[in-house]
Amino acid sequence: MVSAGEDRFNPAGIRCFVRVLKIGRELIFLIIRNIQTAMMKIALSILCVLAFAQVKGSDGCSNVTIISRAGWRARAPKSRLAISVPVGNFVIHHTAGGSCTTQAECIGLVRGIQNDHMDNRRYDDIGYSFLVGDDGNVYEGRGWENVGAHTQAHNNNKKSFGAAMIGNFNAKLPNTKALTAVKNLIACGVQLGKINTDYRLLGHRDVSGTECPGDRLYILIKTWPNFRYSPSG
Ligand SMILES: [Zn+2]
Repeated sequence: MVSAGEDRFNPAGIRCFVRVLKIGRELIFLIIRNIQTAMMKIALSILCVLAFAQVKGSDGCSNVTIISRAGWRARAPKSRLAISVPVGNFVIHHTAGGSCTTQAECIGLVRGIQNDHMDNRRYDDIGYSFLVGDDGNVYEGRGWENVGAHTQAHNNNKKSFGAAMIGNFNAKLPNTKALTAVKNLIACGVQLGKINTDYRLLGHRDVSGTECPGDRLYILIKTWPNFRYSPSG
């Protein structure tokens, strides 16, 4: 028989109590450690999302302003032919006419070029995929979705997009804004999966008997990274 006092300080009870305390302490450590691990995983996920957003934010498309066909009040095309993407070539042209430094001026020129292509050359639409002005804007021609009419030789229209720099670039270059815009346009096309990552940059004269895209501009684009024309093809 044991007294009430002896019962309160029973050594077996104390050992049991201490053990329960230790288990409790281990459980608390375990919870804290798991919370830390979970927090680290959440933090890493947030960092990943931020890094992805950073990559997305620095792509070519966010750096280029494309004035839609509605934006320059384009006439409706007579017909359209969908292009298979990604294409392997990007062809640089010049319009061989006047330059423009404001959006209003460029729109006037682009509309005039569309009229010439549709009314005089009997094309179904403006021939170029895009046009680029010294105002730094890109003007949507046939765009990323349709076959253009800009580089007839070797059936190139189905295998390429063509951008025309607005102006005559035999004796001068497009300004920096226009050159940056066309580079960003190409980067945008690659980003969108419309152009192969290892695309070939060409001047119109590389595949047709023409002075296009002008002597000065042609010399410049030959220095750009993806320029890979060789006469042997
Ligand atoms: Zn051309």
